[in-house]
Amino acid sequence: MRSTPRTDTEQALLSIRDLSVTFDTPGGPIRAVDGVSLDVHPGEVLAVVGESGSGKSQTALAVTGLLAANGAAEGSIQWHRSEILGLPEHRLARLRADEIAMVFQNPMTSLNPYLRVSVQMMEGMMLNGRMTRPEARAASIEMLESVQIADAASRIDRYPHEFSGGMLQRIMIAMSLLRRPRLLIADEPTTALDVTVQMQIVRLLGEVRRKSGTAIMLITHDLGLVASISDRIAIMYSGRIMEIGHTEEVFSRPRHPYTRALLEAVPRLDRDEAELQGIAGEPPDPEVRIPGCPFHTRCAHRLSQCADIRPPMDGADGHFHACHLSLAP
Ligand code: SF4
Repeated sequence: MRSTPRTDTEQALLSIRDLSVTFDTPGGPIRAVDGVSLDVHPGEVLAVVGESGSGKSQTALAVTGLLAANGAAEGSIQWHRSEILGLPEHRLARLRADEIAMVFQNPMTSLNPYLRVSVQMMEGMMLNGRMTRPEARAASIEMLESVQIADAASRIDRYPHEFSGGMLQRIMIAMSLLRRPRLLIADEPTTALDVTVQMQIVRLLGEVRRKSGTAIMLITHDLGLVASISDRIAIMYSGRIMEIGHTEEVFSRPRHPYTRALLEAVPRLDRDEAELQGIAGEPPDPEVRIPGCPFHTRCAHRLSQCADIRPPMDGADGHFHACHLSLAP
């Protein structure tokens, strides 16, 4: 595990404060994100980990202004200390084009299956005469090589369906890096891939950060996958952050009962599969607002106040958790 030392005075690239995202549905409003606060610093890898429906992807979509039409965000999202929540679409589109790139789980949703990869990579660079065709082609090939696409000069003219899933995800990462973003948000970029390719993509993201200094917000349900490349980790559950801190610290001294349960469920070489602990019970119904701790129905440590009183974030030295119980380290 790695950890990049930072000073408290270092300015955050992205600052999210008390963010809530609510969807208007025929059955009533559903709160998918409930008071999330976090920062992403220049050049760091922040992993946002949680089960499906924990609000991690909706947090990212709120940052990029890509929420579904029935979704609304409240709170504050600052990019370089300027508020971007509520910006008009043309300004958000500009931000997505120039500074914050997103890579999604299924690359085919972002690529046009009827256009050669070369055309799709080059078109942005040739806009407004920024680059000539040969320059854009050379830059595209170089970027494909940097994400380890072998024989990039000939493969670049293929169509998306001629590549494997792992290669397509590399191509998407290459395309997003062509714009030299300050922040790359990768939303479950490895979920559709087999385990070996998953590790290759995660290592590639680590390389990207090392070589280009691009900050990465890596969204995943797989705690084990991010251990080797993230500097900090945020654990989300039911729309809230349960624990956040330096990865090494969270892995070695988890404070929140949910984090502890998640870590128990991560496969390890030194443990028999039969010993793996699943988390008993189900996440709460997203249609029901929970005044207290959303984990209280599954928590073996719950106290009398847990169902009704929201636990505040508590901690020090960059390691915080939201729990009424102060667990011994
Ligand atoms: Fe468990 Fe209570 Fe802590 Fe929630 S606040 S994790 S229910 S002890």
